[in-house]
Amino acid sequence: MSHCKSLLVHCMDFRFMKGIRGFLDQNNLTGDCDLVSIAGAMKSVSDPDAPISEKEFVLKQIGLSHDLHQIKHLILMHHLDCGAYGGSSAFESIEAEHERHLADLNKGRDILKAKYPELEIKLVLAKLDENADVSFEYLD
Ligand SMILES: [Zn+2]
Repeated sequence: MSHCKSLLVHCMDFRFMKGIRGFLDQNNLTGDCDLVSIAGAMKSVSDPDAPISEKEFVLKQIGLSHDLHQIKHLILMHHLDCGAYGGSSAFESIEAEHERHLADLNKGRDILKAKYPELEIKLVLAKLDENADVSFEYLD
């Protein structure tokens, strides 16, 4: 079984596809990174109201990447205006939206750190500008 360096867990949202490809290229991850593309990314892991089967599904995908490909790095990526969260309009302010994603990403990281303490986990928040270009903010 061959190995790869990293796993990126990100939202399936098509608007971010080009940006994520650039992100992978810039970080030297193209061809060396598993991808889990799922609506809301870590939302169902972090949200106590999400069905347990959804949480387990996401954790299983991450576990498979870890066990089969021996990943060393894990990138958990959320994005602003995420449909799984009801979009930006579901929040009172951009700050509140930012805070919710940071909280959910941190919860997800805590759960995964407990299972895989040796993994290096990075948190990233993506956003679209008015030209539909994607930028990335590292949250740690
Ligand atoms: Zn999304």
